[in-house]
Amino acid sequence: MKDSDQSWIEQRLLERFLRYVRIDTTSDRHSKSTPTTAGQLELARVLVEELEQLSVRDVELDEGGFLFAHLESNLKGSAKQPPEIGFIAHLDTSDAAPGKDVDPRVHEKYDGKIIALKEGVVLDPEEFPELRSYSGQKIITSDGRTLLGADDKAGLAEIMTAVEYLVNHPDLPHGEIGIYFTPDEEQGLSMQSFPIKKISAKYCYTFDGGEEGTIEAECFEGYKADLRFIGKSIHTGVARGKLVNAIEMAATFLGLLPGAESPQATDGRYGFYFPLEITGGIEETTLEIYLRDFEEQEVQRRAAALESMARAVEAVFPRGRVEIKIEKQYANLHRFLRDVQEVLQHLEQAIRETGIEPVYKIIRGGTDGARLSELGVPTPNVFTGGHNFHSRQEWAAVPAMIRAVNTAVNLCRLWAEGGRRG
Ligand SMILES: [Zn+2]
Repeated sequence: MKDSDQSWIEQRLLERFLRYVRIDTTSDRHSKSTPTTAGQLELARVLVEELEQLSVRDVELDEGGFLFAHLESNLKGSAKQPPEIGFIAHLDTSDAAPGKDVDPRVHEKYDGKIIALKEGVVLDPEEFPELRSYSGQKIITSDGRTLLGADDKAGLAEIMTAVEYLVNHPDLPHGEIGIYFTPDEEQGLSMQSFPIKKISAKYCYTFDGGEEGTIEAECFEGYKADLRFIGKSIHTGVARGKLVNAIEMAATFLGLLPGAESPQATDGRYGFYFPLEITGGIEETTLEIYLRDFEEQEVQRRAAALESMARAVEAVFPRGRVEIKIEKQYANLHRFLRDVQEVLQHLEQAIRETGIEPVYKIIRGGTDGARLSELGVPTPNVFTGGHNFHSRQEWAAVPAMIRAVNTAVNLCRLWAEGGRRG
């Protein structure tokens, strides 16, 4: 690609990204609507309009907030079409930090020093050494009041810019390309209601990762435990020997969880228990716990441990009851990528052609690609150039974002070439 192409990409990419992040698409796990918040639909409509202007075919926004579109192959007449590939990003942002009235700050030439965003919110290269790699380059932060929303509006802007580039360069060979934007990824809801039948791509790539050059092809096995502690309420005047307090039952249960197996005490390949919500009162208290590990066997061990902790709490509160329901959320996507080597080989090559070496990282979490892989569409996750997701210190490196666009464009070409060869 020519230098003029790179500056065109930068300009189109930034214009989009800075526009998308201003739309509040914070998802809400307590909302019963689909998608959970209206802002996601607002952003989806903006994307629909842009895709239609690019003359992309079959643009459809369904009532659930899923956006589908399709870029037709330009290999017409050639004997063999490569398999269709798809690009995925999510519309929502995390509710772990404020996402309303995002006011992005572009640091044209980052000086490599501490950035004071606002009172008490600083980006310090001592704490976040990745900042150092972008000294002298363009980075984007929030103003410290909100998250930035690079997760995953960087992914959206990168895919959209790659599509625009392909449309403007009909000489660049590519097969059928699916474009899929999903709502409520941060709540783990997107894949529960995913209209898988509408995916015509054989393989997909989510653009929802972080540091440049990274490929994520392995994630947790995710399970969720819902616990109900059932006590017995009675006036305190006559409570002796009768009252069973569900709050105390839940507290006793939490006390049994091994602290060494918590997110804050682990890293690398070690999994954990993660209590994330507790609500209730004396008669009934409910508790939600995530179970995570890279090995299925290890999550199963933790699930069994929760069962026996529940029985232990019943032994301490003989007149109380503990109900426990454990369900699977997603599987380690590694299982589904093992057998289709081309998916990762082309991705490695696509990254290499942007001038850096690909680096594999494991995801200590889930990704839309995990569920999708399980449903039969192997889908690794690609970097977006964003950092410090879900926080006011979220930032994005523009050179890395440009690399992500180039990676997507290269992928289309590599699959097309591979298809013709094979
Ligand atoms: Zn994300």
